[in-house]
Amino acid sequence: MLRRPYPIEEVIKERGKTWTLVLRPEGHTGMFFRPGQFAWLKIGKSPFAVREHPFSFSSSAMRRDRIEISIKELGDFTSNIGEVSPGTRAYLDGPHGTFTVDRHKAPGYVFLVGGVGITPIISMLRTLADRQEKRPLLLFYSNKTWEEMTFREELEDLSRRLNLQVVYTLTDPEEKWEGERGRIDSKMMARYLPENRVECEYFICGPDPLQMAVKRALEELGLPLEKVQSESFNYI
Ligand SMILES: Cc1cc2nc3c(=O)[nH]c(=O)nc-3n(C[C@H](O)[C@H](O)[C@H](O)COP(=O)(O)OP(=O)(O)OC[C@H]3O[C@@H](n4cnc5c(N)ncnc54)[C@H](O)[C@@H]3O)c2cc1C
Repeated sequence: MLRRPYPIEEVIKERGKTWTLVLRPEGHTGMFFRPGQFAWLKIGKSPFAVREHPFSFSSSAMRRDRIEISIKELGDFTSNIGEVSPGTRAYLDGPHGTFTVDRHKAPGYVFLVGGVGITPIISMLRTLADRQEKRPLLLFYSNKTWEEMTFREELEDLSRRLNLQVVYTLTDPEEKWEGERGRIDSKMMARYLPENRVECEYFICGPDPLQMAVKRALEELGLPLEKVQSESFNYI
């Protein structure tokens, strides 16, 4: 790790109290990862620091020379992440994890996401767009409000580059909101899922209650759980 530092080039403010760190490999070729995987991140003078935290890659896996990680303000480490100065060195231990479309071949993919759970999914979508993917993709994306819908502008752009439909749902919408309301459930999913839904692969990422509710909904729809992959951001 000492020989493979990643100076932070930029710290970008995103919607939903989230910050993107742009990392540039210094003196090495960067990291090869699969979209959806994560790495343990350390920031500061030395990779021997005690504190490290897991974060999904949010950038396209097609670019090793510019790696992005998007972090939501939450606790001790993450709540000051927006104050990190460009030039500070970061160290990555990874890639880790099997939550990736590359490990699960299917004729189409469905993503079920809440809040900051969008990070591994945006990496998959950016990568698929860079690969000029043609297969159908469906994203259910739940947030409290439209304002905090992280990456929403880019998702509009990705919908044009990919065969992607995004279903936004808000749990605390303004009155004029015309999209879906409330949590993702089987009724909502049934309105959008394609006919070949049984053949698709499903990727869930979000808070634990969302994961449980969505798995229950998929069972109600008779979808086989071996087609369902999920990533939990909780760790001990
Ligand atoms: C595989 C994986 C991938 C991940 N990818 C991402 C990602 O891409 N982006 C991202 O933002 N996160 C991601 N996470 C989560 C991220 O690792 C954690 O949010 C982060 O490490 C929390 O560190 P912290 O020191 O800021 O929080 P901590 O201070 O350790 O807090 C952790 C939890 O405790 C709660 N808490 C903190 N202080 C208090 C308090 N005083 N009272 C009560 N509760 C409190 C917080 O709300 C939080 O839920 C991922 C996690 C995993 C396991």
